[in-house]
Amino acid sequence: MTNDTVSGLQLRDTLSGATRPFTPLNPKEIGIYSCGPTIYGPAHIGNFRSFLFADLLVRWLRASGHAVRWVVNLTDIDDKIIRAAAKEGEEIRALTDRWEAVFRSDMEALRMTQPDVMPRATEHIPEQIALVERLLEKGHAYKTEDGSIFFRIASWPNYGTLARLDPEAMRVGERVEADEYSKDDVRDFVLWKAAKPGEPSWEASIGAGRPGWHLECSAMSMRYLGESFDLHTGGIDLVFPHHEDEIAQSEAATGKRFVGTWLHCAHLHVSGDKMSKSLGNIARVSDLLAEGVEPRALRLALISAHYRTSLNYTPDSLPAALAAIERLDAFDAALTARTARVDEAAGGVSAEGAALAATTRERFALAMNDDLAVPEALGALFDFVREGNRLLDANCSAATAAALQEALKELDQTLGILPAATTLPAGSEELLAARVAARAARDFAASDRLRDELAALGVLVEDSRDGQRWRVGGSH
Ligand SMILES: [Zn+2]
Repeated sequence: MTNDTVSGLQLRDTLSGATRPFTPLNPKEIGIYSCGPTIYGPAHIGNFRSFLFADLLVRWLRASGHAVRWVVNLTDIDDKIIRAAAKEGEEIRALTDRWEAVFRSDMEALRMTQPDVMPRATEHIPEQIALVERLLEKGHAYKTEDGSIFFRIASWPNYGTLARLDPEAMRVGERVEADEYSKDDVRDFVLWKAAKPGEPSWEASIGAGRPGWHLECSAMSMRYLGESFDLHTGGIDLVFPHHEDEIAQSEAATGKRFVGTWLHCAHLHVSGDKMSKSLGNIARVSDLLAEGVEPRALRLALISAHYRTSLNYTPDSLPAALAAIERLDAFDAALTARTARVDEAAGGVSAEGAALAATTRERFALAMNDDLAVPEALGALFDFVREGNRLLDANCSAATAAALQEALKELDQTLGILPAATTLPAGSEELLAARVAARAARDFAASDRLRDELAALGVLVEDSRDGQRWRVGGSH
């Protein structure tokens, strides 16, 4: 046994088509690159399904004790952005700043792990120019009359491996808007677009222009993770041409393997249909949150299917996820109350409780290690909730409750769906203590008055067998 294989984790690699043990290139720090949003409008739940699957991967690797560096790019220059800015009569930077802020706030609400680096394409122009220079030097790229630069697919025999394409049939039927650039071969893709009046451009050794979309992901991933790195994720729709192009331009430039394992997240459907403008069924995360959807329920709904199966989002998805979240919250609150109880018998952790925590951890790890089988991992979690509630009903000890809660919090490092640790508003701690004293003295009038005072501060109190429980309101 060596340490090189990450403790039992198997991942399905799109390039080889095989599910195989994940072996990091550098076990000291696993490098992950995820294609991020184009920041010119609100992200929808399909976008976030893909980001949250990468988030689960990062969380699971970290929870298993590995150091991870996670890079998620922000595409802040492309045709759509230029058109949107012109339409709004807004500077490109102002428009992309505005949408970046919305994206970051969605990300935070949905508890996506903060990536270590979120590079913007326009802040990495020199790296992109350098990559084009290397490709020109090696004969994998050429300049057309208007000054645009294309990747020469004929120079790269492996092209099409990721998407399993027939090189001859490739790109036939694809709308080739770049005809105007007079490329040598209809399949070739643009690396650098020559400057045009009314469009942003950068002065460069390779001629004034702006980068094509594919180029930024190769340049920025290699800038932050090295020329070869472990994991690259994205939605299935990015396999071709985006990721195929990333592989070609990166490997042609460096002569090295670009990515160890490619992971792609399947589509999200809304009530069986593709999300589309024409169907009017695009569910935007910021709209849902503004409507008051519980962010943890949305997160759970988006992570609940296996990432390689398509997720069907229906009107029942959120209520079902919310019910599950409430079950989890009630269990967590009951564990907190029992843990706080002064146990006169002072029993330790029961054998049954210890066994339940151990089996749950094991089932959860087996599921996550099996190519991130979240449905099975959630199955282990909710069986745990049911069995844990049974132990609580059977009056388990405070120590047992504490052991169960520790296991619950450990699972949640990966899932991210438990309530955040809340801090009490100023003054409420004293009121809570006074209420405990009032109830002990059977002064129920005072206890009711204190409950109202606490409610006015946003602290909701409930009485249970284990004494008073509280939560800071407004989290739903
Ligand atoms: Zn990308």
